[in-house]
Amino acid sequence: MSDKADPQTMADFFKPRLNARFKTWLKICANCALCADTCHFYLANDRKPEMIPAYKVRFINEILKGKVTIDDDYLKKMYETVYYECNMCRRCALYCPFGIDIGLMVGLQRAMLHNVADIQPAGLKSAIESYKQFGNQMSLTQEDWVDTIEWTLEEMEDYYPTLDIPIDKENVDLLYTVNAREPKFYPQDIQEAAIIFNAVGESWTVPSVDGWDDTNLAMFCGDLGTSKMLVEKTFKQAEKLKAKRVAITE
Ligand code: SF4
Ligand code: SF4
Repeated sequence: MSDKADPQTMADFFKPRLNARFKTWLKICANCALCADTCHFYLANDRKPEMIPAYKVRFINEILKGKVTIDDDYLKKMYETVYYECNMCRRCALYCPFGIDIGLMVGLQRAMLHNVADIQPAGLKSAIESYKQFGNQMSLTQEDWVDTIEWTLEEMEDYYPTLDIPIDKENVDLLYTVNAREPKFYPQDIQEAAIIFNAVGESWTVPSVDGWDDTNLAMFCGDLGTSKMLVEKTFKQAEKLKAKRVAITE
């Protein structure tokens, strides 16, 4: 268990982030279970009571009230609940008579686990490390990215001799950004986007430096610092290249 994962530090993380809306939701939930049938995890797990959406945010109250023993087992249960029993789809909020948004509160619990106890899925942890070091989730260098664009284009020469993937072109309508998995594993996706943009005469470009990866996996574990850094990188490129809009893949 992380040294920082003591009950007081956890409660202190929650307190300033529990705004009036969150506090009200935690107080007024009637435990009526009307939200139950809206949750795919509940339906897919033989309607187990533990899968009822409202039950998945119990950790906040328990930690704030200081009435639980926070040990490895407790943190493991919390981790499993917030990552493997809820994907924050927010569907239950649409059916709750009070509009209680369980997904948002599950997100707050994820944020606490990540920021206080350094607990998150291994894939998210490595993606965050890669974002911080390389500016994208696939640990590609800027040279890798530009190189991929260039050979991608060369590969298409025979079929689309006039095809272009403009890099760092200024005053365009569209700054196009991609999922970093595309240059790493699926460069054909970039080729296909280029074919469409060229066919319709789009005014577009891709940035050569940080900001071209539009994924933001840090958001899924409440790492708002990294999340903000990524968004800023993209918007910085859009401003620098004077692009009117940013388009993201998928
Ligand atoms: S979240 Fe809403 S629907 Fe679900 S148990 Fe609480 S009050 Fe009922
Ligand atoms: S937000 Fe979570 S609890 Fe609510 S319906 Fe979606 S998966 Fe189920």
